[in-house]
Amino acid sequence: MSRIRVLLANSAPIGKLGLLDYRLPDGADAPSGTLVEAPLGPRTVLGCVWDGDDQDTGESIGDIRLRPITRVYPAPPLPADLRRLIDWVADYYLCPPGAVLRMAVPSAALRETQRTATPYRVSGIAPARLTPQRAQAMTVIGNAQGSVAELAACGGTSLAVIRGLIKAGALVATAAQTRDTPLPMPDPDFAPPALSVEQMQAADQLREAGGTKFQPYLLDGVTGSGKTEVYFEAVAEALRKGEQALILLPEIALTLPMLRRFEARFGCAPTTWHSDLSPRERRAAWHAIANGHATVTIGARSALFLPYPRLGLIVVDEAHEASFKQEEGVHYHARDAAVMRAKFADIPIILASATPAIESRAQVAAGRYREIALPARYGGATLPTIRAVDLRDEPPTRGAWLAPPLIAAIDARLARGEQSLLFLNRRGYAPLTLCRTCGYRIQCPHCTAWMVEHRLNHRLSCHHCGHTMPPPAACPECQTQDSLVACGPGVERVADEVRSRWAEARIAIVTSDTLWSPARAAEFVADMDAGMIDIVVGTQLVTKGYHFPNLTLVGVVDADIGLIGGDLRSAERTFQQIAQVAGRAGRGHKPGEVLIQTRQPQAPVMAALIAGDTAGFYAAESAARAEAHMPPYGRLAAIIVSSEDAETARATAAMIGKAAPSGSGIEVWGPVPAPLARLRGQHRHRLLVHAARSYKLQAAIRAWLDRCNWPARVRVTIDIDPYSFM
Ligand code: ADP
Ligand code: ZN
Repeated sequence: MSRIRVLLANSAPIGKLGLLDYRLPDGADAPSGTLVEAPLGPRTVLGCVWDGDDQDTGESIGDIRLRPITRVYPAPPLPADLRRLIDWVADYYLCPPGAVLRMAVPSAALRETQRTATPYRVSGIAPARLTPQRAQAMTVIGNAQGSVAELAACGGTSLAVIRGLIKAGALVATAAQTRDTPLPMPDPDFAPPALSVEQMQAADQLREAGGTKFQPYLLDGVTGSGKTEVYFEAVAEALRKGEQALILLPEIALTLPMLRRFEARFGCAPTTWHSDLSPRERRAAWHAIANGHATVTIGARSALFLPYPRLGLIVVDEAHEASFKQEEGVHYHARDAAVMRAKFADIPIILASATPAIESRAQVAAGRYREIALPARYGGATLPTIRAVDLRDEPPTRGAWLAPPLIAAIDARLARGEQSLLFLNRRGYAPLTLCRTCGYRIQCPHCTAWMVEHRLNHRLSCHHCGHTMPPPAACPECQTQDSLVACGPGVERVADEVRSRWAEARIAIVTSDTLWSPARAAEFVADMDAGMIDIVVGTQLVTKGYHFPNLTLVGVVDADIGLIGGDLRSAERTFQQIAQVAGRAGRGHKPGEVLIQTRQPQAPVMAALIAGDTAGFYAAESAARAEAHMPPYGRLAAIIVSSEDAETARATAAMIGKAAPSGSGIEVWGPVPAPLARLRGQHRHRLLVHAARSYKLQAAIRAWLDRCNWPARVRVTIDIDPYSFM
């Protein structure tokens, strides 16, 4: 009999049913990483055979009472670097290892193939016996293909009729793609571009280092410098060596244009991994990756946890993006976890960005990451000129949002047939609806948040919980009719102003409400390329990697938004966002111009943007962080206590606060009611832990919370390296 240790994919923290010992039936073979099904109480759960170390973290059970595993899945074992990553993520982010295992093996991955139903089609042979049902089914099916069940549904008939037609030879099995069909292989030499001298040097540095040794690179290139072309060369090199490559993108950027670009360079599409996959697609992609058929995967953050057996390179594109931080379930940062995976797999990793995070720059300064810079745009395109429009000197007219200089600049673009982009990072029509009579503000019933008016779909909606309602005709408080007014602008309202000013201009609104799918995004890109759009009004969605050569003007409608109620990173985020959106201007032969509407042009972040003083901004910002011992020069962790019951939440937070560790190297602030004091009906309190960089923060938090007990209806969430302070 052999004993195996299994990590179960349930959410128990380690030591509490995370790892259990089981009996491996005689004759079965299950090396570390093997996926199994194991009994747990009356149920069975997915598990993974874990490395048995001497340290006994599993429950000790005598051999006789050991339960046998119920099944060994016929899937490749999870590779060792992934198993180490799962342990690291659980340990670092203080989350159950079973929850991380779930990300590596989503439930769709091992679902039965539903016996991959064979698709049939009409053969052209008439059945000997043509009953009315058969005749009708044949007509309706036409040239459709599908499984027996699908054809029955489509032909409006029974399974028996379809089976009868198959027997009669009227329907035949198609030589359809089965899941064993070899995937098309990206060809590293399909269409390599002629790189510029700078690009070549950058690619050479990546190539020569691209052995099998761990090394992070910061590919720090201005917008339009050709970062993608350069890291594609590293991907090509990995392909030539027979390795797999992973490119992580922010979810939102997984657009058709990027995939087209990959196809143009490598001759076929990559394997993709994102939240829009159907269970079937997810299953197919998982297996293609696990058995090594998929050589290049382009995916959102969760693609990091897939079982690549021959991973040779990781690229994190737009590495500064906050959306790499997952804010629910396992609170991990995919950029940081990706570096750890590269370390465990002993391979290079490239973080590409025009506006790297201060964290990444600090790693370069510390000598841990190598910087590869692309300081100029490709093809002689110049960086845009950036100017502030001081709203105090040149305000827009009442009820409008565009100041005279910006209006003049748009006029000029329309006259020249060039495109303009107005950027405002606020979805909807207006962020607040207020009663003129009594001052009542319409708030979400479940959250501490205003309801945002959306005129495109005639709803008020909460951007935190998704609650929506029709706009009321009368004030809900004082019942006065027609007294509600919209306050402040969202993109829809700016678009209204544009429409009323330039009735003949063709406008596109770009937000997650209008571009919710890759197909819609592709349509937008096609319209822009065809010159069918004059003015784009958009949220941060338009800052993402687009390349429109005829777009020569970018107007930032309200540059100050991001600085209000600022958290640790508000200046950095404002800088990154504006620099990224500015980077959309003048990418072709025509020079670009950027106008930033602000009330504080002297604020350091605005001054740096206008002067193009990126280095100065980062230096000042880093110095300020270092002085305050803030990340990356110190550590932060947030503890969020939430409950449906306000008093229970408050009391639990207070109790946890009382048990807080103290001493040198650590401080605990709070608890205080969270800025989002209520979210989805949950009352929330926050504690913020601040520690020195060398402090063993995770161990301290683990010991601290182990000393505390709270009622089952309270949720305590730990957020290591928090990005949201709401
Ligand atoms: P970045 O990601 O740095 O903003 P991109 O990689 O998107 O820059 O490149 C900007 C534009 O220039 C893209 O349209 C790209 O196809 C083009 N480009 C960059 N380098 C080359 C090259 N060596 N040959 C041809 N086109 C290039
Ligand atoms: Zn809400």
